[in-house]
Amino acid sequence: MKVKINEDNCIGCGYCEGVCDEVFEVVDGVSTVKVQEVPAAAKDNVIDAIENCPTSAIEEIKD
Ligand code: SF4
Repeated sequence: MKVKINEDNCIGCGYCEGVCDEVFEVVDGVSTVKVQEVPAAAKDNVIDAIENCPTSAIEEIKD
């Protein structure tokens, strides 16, 4: 699983980092993805972040 942030939509609320700081880090008010591939153990938390991001700024990259 791979994800990206649509930076124009991100408001830097920090929810994604709070739920999965292995994968997301808010830098200068915008979330960034720290990993190429989401670790298997983090997948459920990443799905939580995708589903609960208030601006739907996190997108799964489909291969
Ligand atoms: S949850 Fe969404 S809006 Fe909030 S920091 Fe993460 S990507 Fe940005």
